[in-house]
Amino acid sequence: MNKDPKQEEVTESVEEEILFTSLRAKSWNEFAGQGKVKESLQIAIKAAKKRDEAIEHILLYGPPGLGKTTLAHLIAKEMGVNIRVTSGPAIERAGDLASILTNLEKGDVLFIDEIHRLNKVVEETLYPAMEDYALDIIIGKGPSARTLRLDLPQFTIIGATTRVGLLSAPLRDRFGVVHRLNFYDPDNLGEIIKKAASKLNVPVDIESISEIAKRARGTPRIALKLLKRARDFAEVKGEGRVTKDLITKALNMLEVDEAGLDSSDVRYLKAILEKHGGGPVGIETIGSTISEDIGTIEDVIEPYLLQTGFIKKTTRGRIATPQAYKHFKLEVPKENKQEKLL
Ligand code: ADP
Repeated sequence: MNKDPKQEEVTESVEEEILFTSLRAKSWNEFAGQGKVKESLQIAIKAAKKRDEAIEHILLYGPPGLGKTTLAHLIAKEMGVNIRVTSGPAIERAGDLASILTNLEKGDVLFIDEIHRLNKVVEETLYPAMEDYALDIIIGKGPSARTLRLDLPQFTIIGATTRVGLLSAPLRDRFGVVHRLNFYDPDNLGEIIKKAASKLNVPVDIESISEIAKRARGTPRIALKLLKRARDFAEVKGEGRVTKDLITKALNMLEVDEAGLDSSDVRYLKAILEKHGGGPVGIETIGSTISEDIGTIEDVIEPYLLQTGFIKKTTRGRIATPQAYKHFKLEVPKENKQEKLL
């Protein structure tokens, strides 16, 4: 019987989710990289502990898989408080938020993933809760409606988002601490892979670790995913040992190329190079060329391509750099209109 590919994908991601949870850094020592963010959070934690107060509300943003959820758990652990995890779209009504907030204890952390997806009514209910630890509840309807103010214990919201630009200014302003997470360098990724391999009991040599680190798009989640795939591959095709050769095979199967670009990156770059003469081309046009949502392009695909120098943003649109031409073994046009724009 043929498996439904969609179903397979879903099962895979649940399995991976369990794996990621089990591999989550349990202490600051296990959390590699992001030095400045770590340091600033540690100071905020120390200060809050000293004052015996809840830590300030924290906003973490950046592309998926860089450690936002992990940091939220670490912060709660360091503060010695409970963490309640939810997400923007999961809180549908103000009442849902009220029931979550009224069940928090002093100092607790409420982690709201995808916080940019909170609806307006819920968001407005959140303002006094964040600012004054109070909930304004409307009782009754029509002219006899009254507002009742409910006091809440001191608590901390940790919001995570890949799309900080979509957050309204009033919500953003209510976070005392705001941090952007950056892509990891191969050394930090190597550290993460090494620790994960030892937790998972996967024998993997240094060469393989650096190969995964090089190809993981600067993202721990991808590095761990690649390690897991390489392990599965090694178990089926090899003798359980992860070697560079097996990794290359697993990566090719996963359509991750030698620069760590995945199939979406490649489709995006090829659209600019082959369909739009290397650019400049607007994001909407790229989106419709590759049938991809603009939000995903801006928040998931482009940040890495910008950082690694495959594309540039100009006022007239995106352009492919000579590095992108070279990567696909295309000749950089002589009269290069892109170069003039760089
Ligand atoms: P995000 O919330 O930003 O999407 P996660 O916190 O879910 O990312 O991280 C995905 C996986 O990568 C988790 O298993 C996590 O433990 C691991 N990870 C992320 N950042 C780090 C880090 N700096 N050090 C060690 N592991 C990390």
